[in-house]
Amino acid sequence: AKRRGRGRFELFDEELRARAGERVRLERDLHRALEREQFRVVYQPVVDVRTRQVVGAEALLRWDHPDWGTVSPMEFIPVAEESGDIVAIGEWVLREACGQVSRWQQRWPEFRLSVNVSGRQVAEPGLPERVAAILAEEGLAPGTLGLEITESVLMEADGDPEVILARLREAGARLLLDDFGTGYSSLSYLKRFPLDTLKIDRSFVDGLGSEDEDSAIVAAIVQLASTLDLTVVAEGVETEEQLAQLLALQCDLAQGYLLSRPIDAPDLERLLGDTPEP
Ligand code: C2E
Ligand code: CA
Ligand code: CA
Ligand code: CA
Repeated sequence: AKRRGRGRFELFDEELRARAGERVRLERDLHRALEREQFRVVYQPVVDVRTRQVVGAEALLRWDHPDWGTVSPMEFIPVAEESGDIVAIGEWVLREACGQVSRWQQRWPEFRLSVNVSGRQVAEPGLPERVAAILAEEGLAPGTLGLEITESVLMEADGDPEVILARLREAGARLLLDDFGTGYSSLSYLKRFPLDTLKIDRSFVDGLGSEDEDSAIVAAIVQLASTLDLTVVAEGVETEEQLAQLLALQCDLAQGYLLSRPIDAPDLERLLGDTPEP
């Protein structure tokens, strides 16, 4: 790089420094965000494909930064993973979301919640005990809480993911395999791990009705799930056409902007209130 002349080298250098500076600030501010109460949880409704009734929701984390506005979890979750802050943040999300659902349980006893968990959280000893403690404190019935885990989390887990997952299930959590179909060893995972639900990745739902390959892949996943007695959820449903295809393929559940964006707890409560009880 030095041969290119001083000017360019310095420009490059400055840009690098600026970017590194941003990253340092992101890390530092993220580390403080919990105590500064800058996080909130939004809920994306999950609906029954046949009836369109809301049967549950996925909890999604939001960070309101005083200068940057709402920062996407795609940006800050990897940073929190690397620093280790994700462990405390993840526990906060679990408590917050479970506390919310415990307030709804009287009125909507069938309501199911799912929360994303990261690799660092799964690797941390004691997650099953903490999950059990939160469920007990909030008085949630077994099966109310689901944990969404990606294949990469299972792949990177040191220790024995089978044992950890079995203990999480004993603690009363359901297990959902997130972004299904995007990883490498999906099929062997279905055999190895005690899963309850597959979430079909948005990338396959995208082309439903327009791309033959996507329809074939979704059909195969739904079939597989049915054979293995797993519930199947389609993610990222944006059009009526996609939902019609999912109905024809007998997919159980769906979530996506067509049905609802992620919303705050009061809005979800209003939505549930409008839905006739099953
Ligand atoms: P994910 O678990 O795959 O979550 C689904 C993402 O798709 C969410 O983005 C959701 O808002 C978005 N989405 C839902 N419906 C549609 C749709 O119809 N079209 C499109 N284009 N997008 C849709 P979000 O909230 O930005 O979260 C991004 C990712 O960040 C999540 O992907 C998850 O991996 C991670 N994340 C979010 N909250 C948490 C958390 O509390 N803990 C951990 N560990 N990760 C989280
Ligand atoms: Ca998820
Ligand atoms: Ca997903
Ligand atoms: Ca995803």
